[in-house]
Amino acid sequence: MDSIENNNSIFANIFSLNGKIALITGGGSGIGFDIAECMVASGATVVITGRREFALKEATDKLGKNAHYVVNDVTELDKLEGLVTEIESRFGTIDILVNNAGINMKKPALEVTDEDFNRIIHTNLSAVFTLTRAVAKGMVARQSGSILMISSMAAYYGIDRVVAYAASKSGVEGMVKVLASEFSKFNVRINAIAPGFIETSMMKTAMGSDPDRMNRALNRTPMAKFGKPADIGWAAVFLASEAAAYITGASLPVDGGNSIGF
Ligand code: NDP
Repeated sequence: MDSIENNNSIFANIFSLNGKIALITGGGSGIGFDIAECMVASGATVVITGRREFALKEATDKLGKNAHYVVNDVTELDKLEGLVTEIESRFGTIDILVNNAGINMKKPALEVTDEDFNRIIHTNLSAVFTLTRAVAKGMVARQSGSILMISSMAAYYGIDRVVAYAASKSGVEGMVKVLASEFSKFNVRINAIAPGFIETSMMKTAMGSDPDRMNRALNRTPMAKFGKPADIGWAAVFLASEAAAYITGASLPVDGGNSIGF
């Protein structure tokens, strides 16, 4: 750290994901796509998954030669160990896992059926645990790795009509703390990102075309604007990089100030 040139090169290297292999679930669209794009721009090779092959193909065409896809539905828990084996044999061992795939549903709690509730928990929580366990086995053995969960403001606040979604994301936040405690001695870090209102198809579905809802959301956001998927992408690069080497068990709000208070 004795010259400006050295400082610049330390700065460039510490955020770099050069040579890293990242698995990003739900990487074919929305926030997952931008996480993939930011990680590729930072030097990683990414493998994106999802259920719609056409979306994955289009995404990898845009992302370039350092992006690959595997069609996978995270709710098929018994296939997730096989997914990890396939990815590691084709592309190399996974250094970064981003549990991004998720679904939401807005309904008053008294109208939520057991089937509704279980579907959200299965996708957003059970699948996240099963995939994390499958990837973490290798990371723990290699004593190296970074795992990211995409959580939500719904884990922080009581937001009406998202009871199952909030339960799933709160579960993810709890999982992060326990796994950070268990994995720290193996040099495997695990953190969450809690996005605020980010402009994706999920947000559009949740808001509908109701301008009042949009305005209420903006009024609750101190920066008075919605986030872009890339805002989450760059936060993911930071948390996965050496710059965050001493951060584990954390949940980082990326929300235009939303979490300051409603
Ligand atoms: P989108 O609906 O735009 O994208 C969701 C992605 O997840 C899609 O690529 C979809 O691909 C994939 N996916 C959904 N279900 C499955 C499944 N069973 N198996 C594999 N992939 C699946 O949502 P966002 O990009 O907005 O959300 C991404 C994450 O961010 C989610 O976890 C969400 O809860 C979280 N989040 C989003 C916020 C927002 O404002 N947008 C706010 C807070 C959190 P395919 O359909 O091809 O399977």
